[in-house]
Amino acid sequence: MNEEMNQLIALQEIDAELAGFDREINEQQQEISKREQSISDKETAIAACHEKVASLEQQQRDIALENDDAGARIKDRQNKMMQVQTSREHQALLKEIEENKRLIKETEETLLTVMETIEQTESEVAELENLLTGEQELLNKETTAVKKKIKKIESRRKTVAAQRKKLSEVLGAALLKRYNMLLIKREGLAVAQTINGVCQGCHMSIPPQQFNEVRKGDKLQLCPTCQRILYFQEEESEE
Ligand SMILES: [Zn+2]
Repeated sequence: MNEEMNQLIALQEIDAELAGFDREINEQQQEISKREQSISDKETAIAACHEKVASLEQQQRDIALENDDAGARIKDRQNKMMQVQTSREHQALLKEIEENKRLIKETEETLLTVMETIEQTESEVAELENLLTGEQELLNKETTAVKKKIKKIESRRKTVAAQRKKLSEVLGAALLKRYNMLLIKREGLAVAQTINGVCQGCHMSIPPQQFNEVRKGDKLQLCPTCQRILYFQEEESEE
């Protein structure tokens, strides 16, 4: 294989590595985003619980007022009982007293339900806050770890980018331009290996005559289907 081809293969390897860095950084950041989303979901749930408790407490106060009113009405009717003359008036007051007693009983039952719901919601909050604390600690640790990893990746990237620059300078301008265009058009793979006469970039067969040329490796050969630059490597052939 000629020197130019070797350089192209090396350049392709470098570009694959460079693309890998972006993917790795992306994956790392996605992990952090996932954790942040989960924390934000819990914060939203906690806020909703607090709102629910506040509204239940308001309901509690309203019920207590209703209760007081009913109690006051009972006292009032009981006082009036001592002043009424007819049994009809007496009956009417008794009926009112009974109604208010029933109202008090009902409100007390409602109050109990409200109190239970408040307790339930508050224990929900406690559980969520517990989880939240744990997740925030994890996030802090993960953020530190990811920052370190990204720093390492970036430093490796610098080294590889320098290698790329060096290699680009060696390659002819026209060839480099063709390579760079292919890299963009063909999803990061400009140079493809051929195995058993098949282009490993697009998995289509190459005419046998051209495959022979690729094997010889003294002239630049492009895949007739995907236009990638083709090369052949003896040890990876199954022929
Ligand atoms: Zn191809």
